[in-house]
Amino acid sequence: MPIFKTEAIVLKRINFAESDLIVTFFTKNFGKAACIAKRARKINSPFGGRLEPFACVNIIYSGKEHQNLMNLRHCDIVIPFYKLREDYSRLTRGLYFTEIISHFTREGQKSTELYSLLLIMLDLLQRTKNQLVLTIIFEMKVIALSGFAPKLTTCEICNNEPLGKILNLHIQEGGIICGKCLNGNSPGRRINLGTLNYLKKALTINLDSVERLKLPKGLDKEFGLITQTYLRSIVGKEFKSHKLLQS
Ligand SMILES: [Zn+2]
Repeated sequence: MPIFKTEAIVLKRINFAESDLIVTFFTKNFGKAACIAKRARKINSPFGGRLEPFACVNIIYSGKEHQNLMNLRHCDIVIPFYKLREDYSRLTRGLYFTEIISHFTREGQKSTELYSLLLIMLDLLQRTKNQLVLTIIFEMKVIALSGFAPKLTTCEICNNEPLGKILNLHIQEGGIICGKCLNGNSPGRRINLGTLNYLKKALTINLDSVERLKLPKGLDKEFGLITQTYLRSIVGKEFKSHKLLQS
């Protein structure tokens, strides 16, 4: 039976049978993988305390390719991310991040960029002073890395760079309509040029500089609403853990 060895992040865990756990990992080398950790809830289990939400771990598991449930054989902690589990607000944002990642990843499909993004974002989430900005950037980066980046540099009707101060963000189409082409029947949501520039920044910002991106007061909520609506239009549903977030 093939053996898989990889670094991974715990996305989700559920109790199973008398003392087992079913853990969904986002692995660095093989995409998403669901494993059964036998007797993991027993006091003297070798897995004890190593399969907590968000933990970054080195794991060994076995199972046939395309098998639904793999068998977890070994697990060592790399980064515990325990601070995320000690603070309700950080915990719920972490759950939101992992639920989004779980949606955009598949079993057996490696995604190095999404893996690095999640790892860096969980680390930043432990210490950031602005969880909302971090969440917005996370949402935009996942959207972009999954191939759904909105087209923000040119108008979808005239193809010119938008010059007016007012324009429409046409969320369902993932584009913008410039002031010149706008009329009363134009689809989408009215935004100003400042908001558009922040959207562009969130899409392209280097993750080392995330802490330096400040949103003007009053704009952060609007911004959050835009990324949320956009994400929902791509996914076709609201993420369960989003309801837990405190603004
Ligand atoms: Zn136009």
